[in-house]
Amino acid sequence: MTPPASPIRLGSIDELRFSAVLADLDGVVYRGDEAIPGAVDRLRSWRERGVPYCFVTNNAEKSAEQFAEKLMRLGVPCTPNEVVTSADIAIAHLEAHYAAGTGVFCVGSASLRERVEAHGFELSADEAKVVLVGLDREFSYDKMAIAVRRVLAGASLVATNADLLRPIHGTFEPGAGAILQSIAASAGVTPRSLGKPSPEIAHVALARIGARLEDSILIGDQLETDILTARTAGIRSVLVETGVPAKHGSHIVPDYVLASL
Ligand SMILES: [Mg+2]
Repeated sequence: MTPPASPIRLGSIDELRFSAVLADLDGVVYRGDEAIPGAVDRLRSWRERGVPYCFVTNNAEKSAEQFAEKLMRLGVPCTPNEVVTSADIAIAHLEAHYAAGTGVFCVGSASLRERVEAHGFELSADEAKVVLVGLDREFSYDKMAIAVRRVLAGASLVATNADLLRPIHGTFEPGAGAILQSIAASAGVTPRSLGKPSPEIAHVALARIGARLEDSILIGDQLETDILTARTAGIRSVLVETGVPAKHGSHIVPDYVLASL
């Protein structure tokens, strides 16, 4: 797909023809714990009309079940099957490349560690063949030191996502990518990150809802993650202006821009 020179501004999402929707969460459906006005009604109307949707998020702190619960609480019809997180992609990556029982040193939330273990991998500091990094609010120098030593001993360094900065409550916080970079820089390796903007998460989401690339749109609020994912996956992209303010001068151009859902 040839990137557009400049995006087409829409007055309403109804101006587009599509039959399936992939959507980011934070900045599109809600900000923090508050629903974004209009987004809930829009999703409900798609549900009523039978337009399938699936959410794609780099947030690996919570499980799909927890995201579905939060969405239901905000009034958005959602099942866990309709949420793909970067943790899902990370677990799939582990399963594709490593035997059950392989040691994984997991820098991440309790939810991520539990999932790694539940999928048959051994949480280990000493024997780890993989260092898996997600956002870890209890990240410490000790954890960094263990991770660096494992990588120097030959473990591969993979991350749920490479986001350096996350919007939160009108300000920002460092993301999993900031933790990842500290380990990668110290160990002198190039890490692999699995969430957006890698196209895989979009492919998994489309498969979940039985949708085709050409019939779908991907809605997001960030050029470097959402819109780049759509671009690399070959899906039409819609940038909504309800989330992170767009950086000027980015080389990533969405197909469409919309003030709000
Ligand atoms: Mg977002």
